[in-house]
Amino acid sequence: MGRLALLLFLVFAALLVLRALRLLLAAFFSARTRRSDGSPASIEGEMVRDPICGTWIDRRLALAARSGEGWVPVCSEECRARAAAGPNDPGQAREDRARAKGT
Ligand SMILES: [Zn+2]
Repeated sequence: MGRLALLLFLVFAALLVLRALRLLLAAFFSARTRRSDGSPASIEGEMVRDPICGTWIDRRLALAARSGEGWVPVCSEECRARAAAGPNDPGQAREDRARAKGT
């Protein structure tokens, strides 16, 4: 009976240790990724989202594409062309809604 209790305790302790390790790892990785939000040191490596295809790209590598209200960062010439054409742009949806209201 004592042995069973010891075994249960060991299993419990092992689970606790695993959980603590996982929390530590999660905190470590989130601290590494979160740094790109605020600290001035990492602005040069800031990631921006291409609204056309949804890819995350380095701001320095992004191309600027004209889209509706202004400029958006895109990953490639192809996305730049799509942004210019604006088929799945939010501005396009608004245009459609306005047109539907007008008729
Ligand atoms: Zn893209």
